[in-house]
Amino acid sequence: MTYNGPVIDGHAHLYELDHAGHLDAIREAGRARSMNIVCIFDGKRVNANPEAWAAKASRPGRFYVFAGLDHSALFSGGRVDAPPLDRQVDILIAAGSDGVKLLESKPNYWLKLGLPLDGEYFRPFFARAEEAQIPLLWHVADPEEFWDPACTPRWAAEKGWGYDSSFPAKEQLYAEAFAVLERHPGLRVIFPHFLFLSADLPRASALLDRFSGIYLDLGPGVELLYNLSRDPAASRDFFLRYFRRIIYGTDCYSSMTVKEGGLRAQVIRRFLESGEEFRLPPGTDFLLGPPEDGVIHGLDLPEDTLAAIYSGNFAALAGDAPRPMNSRLAALECRRLAHQQSLLTGESESTTPAMRAALTLEEGAC
Ligand SMILES: [Zn+2]
Repeated sequence: MTYNGPVIDGHAHLYELDHAGHLDAIREAGRARSMNIVCIFDGKRVNANPEAWAAKASRPGRFYVFAGLDHSALFSGGRVDAPPLDRQVDILIAAGSDGVKLLESKPNYWLKLGLPLDGEYFRPFFARAEEAQIPLLWHVADPEEFWDPACTPRWAAEKGWGYDSSFPAKEQLYAEAFAVLERHPGLRVIFPHFLFLSADLPRASALLDRFSGIYLDLGPGVELLYNLSRDPAASRDFFLRYFRRIIYGTDCYSSMTVKEGGLRAQVIRRFLESGEEFRLPPGTDFLLGPPEDGVIHGLDLPEDTLAAIYSGNFAALAGDAPRPMNSRLAALECRRLAHQQSLLTGESESTTPAMRAALTLEEGAC
């Protein structure tokens, strides 16, 4: 059925400080009341938190931020100092973040650190996240075809998302994540892209039953929509049973056009609301692949189910509205990150992206 209630887009990316207005236009094209900017860690820029905080501060009520961690001590081989990961959780919350984003279990990102998520390095982080009850959006694994060179889509291989034996296996990444969940049953975790289990709903169902604090997000990974369309009746049953554990998200990113962003939202919404069979409309972004790739079969979900998926579940985890920013503390953290960026890249501190964000936050705080 057609849904006209509130929508929170639980998964989007902002790449540059100047893209905030553009991402806001994408949000509007997707008819979302608010949007969650999730921040990726990086070996040079440390993470994308500065841009996200500046965007959130400049548009109150529009953006949630799930901040990324600072692994610069590892990346620099100890040359650069960073606060311990449990302390980082407190810094991120104090600045005004709404949660933490982990990309550390995506195979190519896992390899950047080379450390198991259930190992000693991450232990204090998960313990503190559980204690503070801060929600995580944790990308674990990738679509199964990325491990099979014959099946990896060309656009994915071009991005370095084709995995040979030098990468961790999909089951290893799952095993690490589940070991963490066993150790910290109070953790609240959204696994994006349906935890890449859209082709195996019985397994997804067993995991949702086993771990009461986990949720699945609908960000495509367009394979997710194709997989769920193979047996629409079984998928619909799954959604009716677990609708309190499924979260709407588009995975839109600020370098796409507003039209592409609007189409992403439209495709997912048509899948949830209509009972129609359709293909991707022309004009969708390249990450979704061409329309010839597959047919999507809508689930025609009822209103209470849609309301939970579109906004209720995310709001229960991260709040009905984004937490207020503390622009002073956020700016302070951005200045620290500007220092890290400068040490990692050799760039002058004053021209780093983090310093630009710090100045924007300080202007707004006056
Ligand atoms: Zn994403």
